[in-house]
Amino acid sequence: MSSISFEFFPPKTDEQRAQLDQAAVLLKSHAPEYVSVTFGAGGSTLSYTGETVHHLHTTHGLSVAPHLSCVGGTRAELAALLDDYRAAGYRRIVALRGDLPSGMATPGDFRYASELVRFIREHSGDHFHIEVAAYPETHPQADDALADLRHFKAKVDAGANGAITQYFFNADAYFRFVDDVRRLGVNVPIVPGIMPISNYSQLKRFSDGCGAEIPRWIAKRMLAHGDDAASIRELGADVVAQLCRRLLEGGAPGLHFYTLNRARATRAILDRLHG
Ligand code: FAD
Repeated sequence: MSSISFEFFPPKTDEQRAQLDQAAVLLKSHAPEYVSVTFGAGGSTLSYTGETVHHLHTTHGLSVAPHLSCVGGTRAELAALLDDYRAAGYRRIVALRGDLPSGMATPGDFRYASELVRFIREHSGDHFHIEVAAYPETHPQADDALADLRHFKAKVDAGANGAITQYFFNADAYFRFVDDVRRLGVNVPIVPGIMPISNYSQLKRFSDGCGAEIPRWIAKRMLAHGDDAASIRELGADVVAQLCRRLLEGGAPGLHFYTLNRARATRAILDRLHG
């Protein structure tokens, strides 16, 4: 199978830390190329990303990629993080703009992820393999889809080596996006971001927030299962495994799983892919 990677978020309580450890052990057996750890915009959760990648690297022996988002950050803060990550031996970074938490007014020294990518290249040369975000269904704040494609290309022109997409359930949106950016001259690998489905109301909430479309037929089938969590998990695994199969058959270079720090739903998909 093509390369896979797993995304985690920094745990904040002992219970969450135990949950992450359990997920890391179970998912490591699937031989990920790397695992990434999200970055909370706005400073307060900033140090958790560093602690979590360190833990996953040293305790679990995983190859790690910290996310780095520039919104609300200064050049000096971001330079210090880059230096720490380089000193720790990490070679990959996921570079993002991030979203300002509501009520936070300071935009920081960078407006867009393309400016962060340029800064990473200026500061750290070619040390890091840089991944950026891509939006097959268009970023919710983009003026229009074409402008969003051009802004995506700007990140690659600034020095990104690859991209991971926002999650989606419509494979055609991904293939269309890849075709469109190839026509603009973008040649880096674009890895689909995969959201396992284990809880429909949570998925609906996330999707409303990030602009991912849940096809009507999936919503209807999920709703038909009501509160039957086991049936929803089964249906979710079937639907998402089928999506992954289509993506890989259509040429996707790998899969990046949004694990939400739990192994079960992601493993259910991987088991179906291998079965
Ligand atoms: P950008 O690429 O800067 O784009 C943001 C918006 O600005 C888009 O609408 C774009 O079209 C527009 N734009 C870009 N350049 C210009 C320009 N020159 N002029 C006008 N408009 C422009 N968020 C977190 O806080 N932490 C995380 O760890 C995190 N991880 C993520 C991982 C992945 C794989 C993905 C897909 C998203 C992640 N996010 C994360 C969410 C992300 O931060 C948000 O979607 C954010 O709103 C946009 O970030 P970006 O890097 O795509 O921004």
